[in-house]
Amino acid sequence: MAVPYADLHLQYQSIKSEIDAAVSSVIRDSAFIRGPYVDAFERAFATVVDAHHCVSCANGTDALFVAMAALGVKPGDEVITTAQSWISTSAMITHAGATVVFCDTDASTFTIDPAAVESAITPRTVGIIPVHLYGQPADMGAIMAIARKHGLWVIEDCAQAHLARYKGQQVGTFGDAATYSFYPGKNLGAMGDAGAIVTGRSDLAERMAMLARHGGLVKHQHQFEGINSRLDGLQAAILSAKLPHLARWTQARQAAAAVYNTGLNQIEEIVVPQVAPDRTHVYHLYTIQHPQRDQLAAHLNANGVQTAINYPVALPFLEAYRRLGHRPEQFPNAHRHQGRILSLPMFAEITAQQQKTVVDLISAFS
Ligand SMILES: *Cc1c(COP(=O)(O)O)cnc(C)c1O
Repeated sequence: MAVPYADLHLQYQSIKSEIDAAVSSVIRDSAFIRGPYVDAFERAFATVVDAHHCVSCANGTDALFVAMAALGVKPGDEVITTAQSWISTSAMITHAGATVVFCDTDASTFTIDPAAVESAITPRTVGIIPVHLYGQPADMGAIMAIARKHGLWVIEDCAQAHLARYKGQQVGTFGDAATYSFYPGKNLGAMGDAGAIVTGRSDLAERMAMLARHGGLVKHQHQFEGINSRLDGLQAAILSAKLPHLARWTQARQAAAAVYNTGLNQIEEIVVPQVAPDRTHVYHLYTIQHPQRDQLAAHLNANGVQTAINYPVALPFLEAYRRLGHRPEQFPNAHRHQGRILSLPMFAEITAQQQKTVVDLISAFS
């Protein structure tokens, strides 16, 4: 493979001694569940993302569930989210007991369209879950204004957007709570599953921590029925070892995106990622649009360049949501984008030579 889509091993090699030392310490201390490594990561992560409280959990999907459960979502409630995301976002709305209401994305940023949110609100609406898709913040100014006007909570899905900023302020600090995934391929990735929720509300933080730990923070004192969603000590120690490198890795992704932009901007059929004013993009994914997407992907793949489609079917059109009977005309942007988007190789360690290979192949195709 000339250019892999991502290269997790390369990152490990670059900080091998730190990771190995972290893993050995946890094993030496048998600190596998909860304990000092988990506490230390929660504190460090809260500091890095400008949050008051961090509650770790088993993965980014559980983080969404726990946040909604803590906010008291119940049957009959409607929760608004975007038509374009990973299925965790909408599936957890259902599992928390509420009804999913999808909104279209805007035409250029792939994030939820605030105008669509406003028109989707009914007397049953309780909250909004914007997703900072691919690493670009959603329009948080407009979304928070709508939430305040209608008395709704907001959970930011930050799974793809560690350290991204909207008007200088970090994502995850606008809403009532924000969820993170540390799936290995995310911008901050564990070596297994891991997730967290951050919030500025101490009442929510406590309730979320209890929910994730069988309904109580003291052994055998269950205040209510929770679930088991724990970050383990090994993952916490690995994440703590990686955290000091996150800003540098993010800058490397942004630099790589700038190189792609320069190379691809010349090509007429290509639309490079559009970053709205006042937002910083952390390029979890570098996603272009092309009218002959499938042929372009096949051409790249045949020449040793791995790509991905995130996501080939927008959420409302998945088999899982057939019951909602959605039609393409209801989500014209999400529907148009699903046939045009292509994510190119993107990771902090990608080389100029690898990027040149990708750009040259795309130029030759177009
Ligand atoms: C990765 C991801 C999740 C889920 O995270 P897991 O840790 O894989 O459970 C949720 N939402 C979005 C937008 C994601 O990209």
